[in-house]
Amino acid sequence: MTVIQLKPKKQDSLLRFHPWVFSGAIAKILLDKNYPYNEPQEGELVRVTDSDDNNLAVGHWQKGSIAVRVLAFGIDRLPADFWHRRIAAAYNCRRDINLPVHDHKAAYRLVHGEGDRLPGLIVDIYADTAVVQAHSAGMHLCRYDIAKALVDTVPAVQRVYYKSDDTLPFKAPLQGDKTGYLIGEPSDYVCWAAENGLEFRIDWLQGQKTGFFVDQRDNRSLLEHYAANRHVLNMFCYTGGFSVYAIRGGAKSVTSVDVSAKAIELVKQNVAHNFPDYPAHYAYAADAFDFLDGKINDRLANVQMTNDKYDLIILDPPAFAKHRDAVPNALRGYRRLNAKAIEKIAPGGILFTFSCSQAVDKEAFRLAVFTAAAQVGRHVRILHQLHQPADHPINIFQPEGEYLKGLVLYVE
Ligand code: SAH
Repeated sequence: MTVIQLKPKKQDSLLRFHPWVFSGAIAKILLDKNYPYNEPQEGELVRVTDSDDNNLAVGHWQKGSIAVRVLAFGIDRLPADFWHRRIAAAYNCRRDINLPVHDHKAAYRLVHGEGDRLPGLIVDIYADTAVVQAHSAGMHLCRYDIAKALVDTVPAVQRVYYKSDDTLPFKAPLQGDKTGYLIGEPSDYVCWAAENGLEFRIDWLQGQKTGFFVDQRDNRSLLEHYAANRHVLNMFCYTGGFSVYAIRGGAKSVTSVDVSAKAIELVKQNVAHNFPDYPAHYAYAADAFDFLDGKINDRLANVQMTNDKYDLIILDPPAFAKHRDAVPNALRGYRRLNAKAIEKIAPGGILFTFSCSQAVDKEAFRLAVFTAAAQVGRHVRILHQLHQPADHPINIFQPEGEYLKGLVLYVE
């Protein structure tokens, strides 16, 4: 096996179980005598040692600033049943914290990358289907072992769909399809998965990410408790998770907005499936900023409203900052967006506002929202501070895994 030897004193973060080796920490790459290439190959399993040749870890090699993603510490090779053990550990965690793993219709995240000691791997379960996303070349190479471990471990799982077109490093010369069924291809398959007793159409073939945003489950539940008798505006609604919960919570009207026409089709299906007789759901394929600026004609939705205003608004935009360099722009975006919503919301209104940018930490996000409130000049109370749910755990040794944060605000 190829050995990656670290520079002196560069082992400390690994001794504290941080699962990444940065390229700058590497002193030497030692290839086996008969190794056919002159450098390690993308996704290859490598052994990491300190400068005195002591074993530190085993992980996946990848070109780039994160050179090794560690799979196991303190050993020199992976056991043969590695994938079964790690998938079982992730499954047992969800079972032990009472996620609905025994419900054959449930939607939940089974593997959350570093949070489940599987850097580069995401697995979401939708009823009988596991949707697997590889973010590293190493996970791509192991996809069939992972798929086998999933069907062997999770009783509900009958099929495994692999969806890594958009997530694999685009420069890596990888063999094999990046998208397609690994196990159990269905013919003409339509999946409805359940979350807290509501059902959602999941389209992993055409949908964004793995097909659904399971990470907002707890926050959607909280919203349900605030929705009674309110006029709800769900911005960046995607498949309408917040909209459907708001209807169950007794909202007077719900308006769903997303720039994607496909998403709006799914929202309409989800509302009709759960609440076929609900008379006041309005859905628009529109840009959020245009909508909040009143450039889109939202009068139709507003006809029954007092004050012509929404009194519960959800802002759940896509990640504005994908990299550190983009943070200043992202913060400007959050300020602008939140200012518009705080300006528009009726007195006594409630704003659920989120950021899923990993590079924007919760203090920076809170400051952006604070600045927006100050600009608009309204009194705002923070009612709740929200985060990602238990099936998106954060590895205590890798705090970078914290990404979703939200505030629930009361706007006087
Ligand atoms: N709240 C959703 C998830 C939102 S994901 C849920 O609970 O499932 C972010 C969504 O924002 C995506 O659906 C994307 O299509 C949409 N989006 C991106 N840019 C947008 C824009 N400028 N205006 C409106 N929607 C946008």
